[in-house]
Formats: sequence, C-alpha cells, structure tokens
Amino acid sequence: MKILTVLLASACALGLAACSKSPESAGTTSTPTATPAESPPPATPAPASAASPTPVEAAAPAPAAVSAAGDKPAAVVSNCSTTIEGNDAMQYNVGSITVPASCTGFKITLTHTGKMPVAAMGHDVVITKAADMQAVAAEGAGAGLAANYLKPDDARVIAHTPLVGGGQTTSVSVPVSKIRGDGPYAFFCSFPGHSTVMKGTIAVE
Ligand code: ZN
Repeated sequence: MKILTVLLASACALGLAACSKSPESAGTTSTPTATPAESPPPATPAPASAASPTPVEAAAPAPAAVSAAGDKPAAVVSNCSTTIEGNDAMQYNVGSITVPASCTGFKITLTHTGKMPVAAMGHDVVITKAADMQAVAAEGAGAGLAANYLKPDDARVIAHTPLVGGGQTTSVSVPVSKIRGDGPYAFFCSFPGHSTVMKGTIAVE
C-alpha cells in the first residue's frame, strides 16, 4: 500500500504541474486611445485633373510672390541652345530664356516629360512678340492639332516647334536677329488654353 500511495502522490504532482500551465493572459487590454475627433481632412483643393496621379506634384510649393512666369527659373543656356521641359501638369519648367547677344542662331529643344498624348496634353514652343501672344494663341485655337494650333502663315509667329505629346522631344532654330530690340518677346504653348500658364519671356542680352 505504501508504494501505491507514493505513486498516486507523484501522479498528482505531475497533474498539478500540467494544470498550472496557463498564466492569465489578461491584462493586455489595449485601450484604443481615441484620437480627438478633429479628423475631417484639411480642405485640400481637389486636383480634379483626370489622368495625372500626381497630387504631390500638383501641390507644389507655389511662391506666389512673383508675377506672370517669373516664379520659374531661367533656362540653362549653353552653346546658343537650351532644353526646356513641358509636363502633364501643363507646365514648362522655366519662365525665361536669355539668348546671348553673340549668338546668331539659337536652338530651343522641348522635351515633353509627361505621358499624355499630344491630342490631350500637347506642348510646343511658339515665339512671338509678347504683345501678339494672346491673339496668336486665340486665333490659332481654331486651326486644329495638325496645324499645331497656329493660324497658317501667321506672320506674327517668329519661330515654333511642332506640338509633341508625352515622351517626345522636338526643337526649333530661332533667328536671333528677329528677337533683337522692339520687344519684349515671349514663348508659349499654342495648345488651346495652355498659354495662360505655359508662357515665358525670351530676350537677347
Ligand atoms: Zn501645352
């Protein structure tokens, strides 16, 4: 009988050990720290542009100090040429082009860095007197895409590239003698509606 008792005791001990395995896993109640109910999103002006998923770029810091196209940098010029960009947000990357007085010709290359087709977001570079820009753009709007939205044989147009779409590059050679004096002169995009934003100054210095 003694032996049996011992066995029972040890069995009980084993059983107890087995039973006491789960320490209460309570106490981990996570209190959801309710954020103050001022969550309605800060009224960001909805960038309702269709196919351009770049709200970050659209919200670019606009130093609204300078007027007209003066809020963009000057084009980098070397060897009587420059390369500027247009994008799907209807923007040039520069606001002015300075042609060195020593140049007799000047090449402007335009790269469309966007993805949209020319029919939707076409860009070009047209050079006129600044005073002619608005009328040339307005009258060209009816000329159609194939005519680069420029009235055929418009004598006010000093130089222009063709319209290009996203991913394309074009260029034009500007006769510098025609933009010396009697200015100011402007460059702009003739795609309907774009010249209100896509414009800048070009001058010989
Ligand atoms: Zn354009």
